[in-house]
Amino acid sequence: MVILPSTVTGSPRHMHEYTQDAMTYVRKYGRPDLFITFTCNTAWEEIGGHLLPGQKTVNRHDLIARDFKQKLSKIINLIRKSHIYGETQCWMYSVEWQKGLPHAHILIWLKQKIQPTEIDNIISAELPDPQIDPLLFDTITKNMIHGPCVSVNKNSPCMIDGRCSKHYPRALVQETQTGQVGYPVYRRRKPGDGGFITKLKMRVGSSLQEIKIDNRWVVPYNPLLSKIFQAHINVESCNSVKSIKYICKYVHKGSDQAVFELQKNRPIIDEVEAFQMGRYISSNEAVWRILGFSIHERYPPVVHLSVHLENGQRIYFNPANLQQQLLSPPKTTILAFFEQYQHDPF
Ligand SMILES: [Zn+2]
Repeated sequence: MVILPSTVTGSPRHMHEYTQDAMTYVRKYGRPDLFITFTCNTAWEEIGGHLLPGQKTVNRHDLIARDFKQKLSKIINLIRKSHIYGETQCWMYSVEWQKGLPHAHILIWLKQKIQPTEIDNIISAELPDPQIDPLLFDTITKNMIHGPCVSVNKNSPCMIDGRCSKHYPRALVQETQTGQVGYPVYRRRKPGDGGFITKLKMRVGSSLQEIKIDNRWVVPYNPLLSKIFQAHINVESCNSVKSIKYICKYVHKGSDQAVFELQKNRPIIDEVEAFQMGRYISSNEAVWRILGFSIHERYPPVVHLSVHLENGQRIYFNPANLQQQLLSPPKTTILAFFEQYQHDPF
C-alpha cells in the first residue's frame, strides 16, 4: 500500500486530521453555535475596480484571492475581536473551491450559547423590508435567493430525483421553531402576514425570467454580515444539530475531486496516484496556494501528541551518536507533556 501522508496540504489524511481536531473542540466545548458559509463574490468593487482596461474578473485570480483572503480575515475579526455575537470560545475555518471560486466554512463556538429566543436576532430567512432597508433588500435578493428550482426550473443543479436536494421551497412558518434534529425551522412569514414578496429576473436555463419570490426561497443569513460583505453568506444555528460529526466532516471535506476507471483487478492501493488522478486545481486555488494563504485556521491550537508505549518511541541515530541517543533519547511530545504536567497546575 502506498500512503499519501497527512503532511500533504489538502490531502485526504490532512483534512481528516482537521475533522478530528474539530471534534476535539466538540468534546471540550460542546456543539458549535454558528455554522457560516462565506462565498466569494466577483462583483465586489475591490475586484472589479482594479481591473485593467479590457480585463475581466476571470483574468485576475490574484485580485480575487487577495480580496477574499482579506474579507475572510475581516469576518473572523468581527466575530472574535468585535464580538458581534458575544465572546467566542473557539473558532475555525477551512477554505475550499467549487467552480473555481473560493468559499470558507466557518464554525464558531460562543462562550454564551445562543438561546432559542435569540435566533431571530441573529439569523433571518426572510426578505427584508425594501422600504426600511433598501441596501439590505438589494443584497439579499441578489445573493441569498435559492434556485429557482423544482417546478420553475427542473434542470437546476440542486435537483436530484425530481426534488431539490437543499429542500427548497421551504415551508412558511410564523415563528422560529427549535427542538428539531437538524437546524432550526426559521421564521418565514407569509406575504401579507409580515412577509414580503418581490419579482426577480432570474436565469432559467439560457433565458431570463421574471419570477415571484417570497420567503420560501430565502437562504438563512445574518443581516449585519450580509450588509457588510455584500456576498452569499449562509448563517445557521447548529445547537440542535444531532450529527455534529457530519458538520465537522463536511467543513473539512476539501475541494472537488473526481476520478473513475474501468479495470478488472487492482491489487495495489496507491493513495498518491489516486490523489494525483482525482485532484483538480483551479486557477484561483493555485494562486491562493502560491501566495501562501492557508486553507485552514483555528483557535485555540490543537496539538497532536506522538502517542507511544513506555520506551517504545522512535529514535533516530547514526553511528556517531548511537551511544548518546540511547543513553538520553530526545523527548517526544507526549513525554514533554507529562513532564510539564508534573509541575504545571494547568
Ligand atoms: Zn433547489
